[in-house]
Amino acid sequence: MLTTMFFKRDKTITRERHEHCISRANIDPDALKVLYRLANTGHIAFLVGGSVRDLLLGRQPKDFDIGTDARPNDIRRLFRNCFLIGRRFRLAHIVFGRKVIETSTFRRQPDESESENGIYQTEDNTFGTPEEDAKRRDFTVNGLFYDIKTFSVIDYVGGLKDLEKKVLRCIGDPNIRFREDPVRMMRAVKFAARLDFTLDRACRKALLKHHADILNASVPRVCEEVFRLFTYNSSSAAFKLMWEFKLLQDVLPEVSAFIDRSGGKNSPLWKYLNALDKDPQNADLSNGVRMASLFYPLFLEQLRREEAAYPNSRINRQHVARTTLHPIAEYLRVPKATLFTAVALMDVHRRFSESPKKSRGHRFLYHPAFPEAIAFQRIVLTAEGEDVSVLNEWQALYDQEVARDIPAPSEEGQVDVEADQPRDAEPLEAPRRRRRRRKPRPFDRANAPESSGQNGEPRAVTVTEVRTEEPPRTDGCD
Ligand code: ATP
Ligand code: MG
Repeated sequence: MLTTMFFKRDKTITRERHEHCISRANIDPDALKVLYRLANTGHIAFLVGGSVRDLLLGRQPKDFDIGTDARPNDIRRLFRNCFLIGRRFRLAHIVFGRKVIETSTFRRQPDESESENGIYQTEDNTFGTPEEDAKRRDFTVNGLFYDIKTFSVIDYVGGLKDLEKKVLRCIGDPNIRFREDPVRMMRAVKFAARLDFTLDRACRKALLKHHADILNASVPRVCEEVFRLFTYNSSSAAFKLMWEFKLLQDVLPEVSAFIDRSGGKNSPLWKYLNALDKDPQNADLSNGVRMASLFYPLFLEQLRREEAAYPNSRINRQHVARTTLHPIAEYLRVPKATLFTAVALMDVHRRFSESPKKSRGHRFLYHPAFPEAIAFQRIVLTAEGEDVSVLNEWQALYDQEVARDIPAPSEEGQVDVEADQPRDAEPLEAPRRRRRRRKPRPFDRANAPESSGQNGEPRAVTVTEVRTEEPPRTDGCD
């Protein structure tokens, strides 16, 4: 009922080819192939979702999703490289090398009565019209379509106006849409920060009212969204919105409490996230580096406490890092490899304390975690306004001695750090060649089963592996 009320005043807007800026030159050629084949066989074929939004904003889309009236089995018949996934709502993955073009049949929002869990949404969606498909989406700017037959943009939800005004608005009543799927609240924050959009009034009010519902969302989805907040150089803005709308208090209570007691908007935490956002390699940083950057000020606070409590002892930094990070990582089910990397990075500064000319630790250059270690140290030094010239010497030596021998990844082999598993589908396992298993060596955490890059994170390795110090004591001192 409410949803119908919301759309009474909305009428469909079509922007013809000459009235918008989307050019086929900016659309992935494989996505174009899929669109053309669907259209040439008599189907509706639209580019949908984030790709239309990004193209209209002049941004490079991360992925190109397609919506069609063809049924999953029709899609499979049309494409030999198609895999149907998802148990309840079947999606087609059309695979080109390591690239996947997600193609889904238009569907509609399930009625409340159709949903088993009351308001919380299940994946049991039913096929629908293009208009119904637009209206089941989360935000107006994510509900736009690009029609490959007419090259026009079709707007059933008022997304074009909101794109112009830079406003993020829910499709429908946010009080309902956020409760149906609480992860939409984190998506709202993520898009507002990433696109530098303002959240509309209804959205802001609903966030403040329903933030605690995020605790009803599935933990892996929340964890995935937390790591997405770090992307597109907008982690500082995203975490600030998370904190302002109290979502942080539910998702990462320790971080929220730290911000509250360390100055709110002036908390030192923001300077580390700002440095992370400005890092030239931002897009390639691992989740371990991202996690370490967020938690570093909390770790420093705990370290100061330990130093005050044990003034004559050398504090074991890794132990402090572990005790700071472990409970949070456990609750959010952060992959172990990410946690180990973040813990190890907190102790990495000693490695870079002197110029490589004076240092005997050149073996460290060859450690697989060296790039993560130097990236994190650069973020810390930049945040603290410290000199990075010694780091530059290490980087130059690394580039000269190690990096030139590492083959550049082919386009096929490149891994997207935010590699998306489709939101509502089972993960697609890329076909892999079988390898003989190597017996794990002690401390070889990189080969532990849990370290096989989850959340789209590149395989992480800990810097503890090459350390020769004795194992840490459990009392916080050594
Ligand atoms: P990104 O650039 O991060 O991929 P995106 O807008 O493409 O942004 P996706 O997570 O890839 O986001 O989802 C694709 C589209 O599916 C969205 O644009 C939106 O229309 C729809 N969508 C995704 N998640 C939801 C959700 N929880 N509820 C309703 N619609 C959703
Ligand atoms: Mg997307």
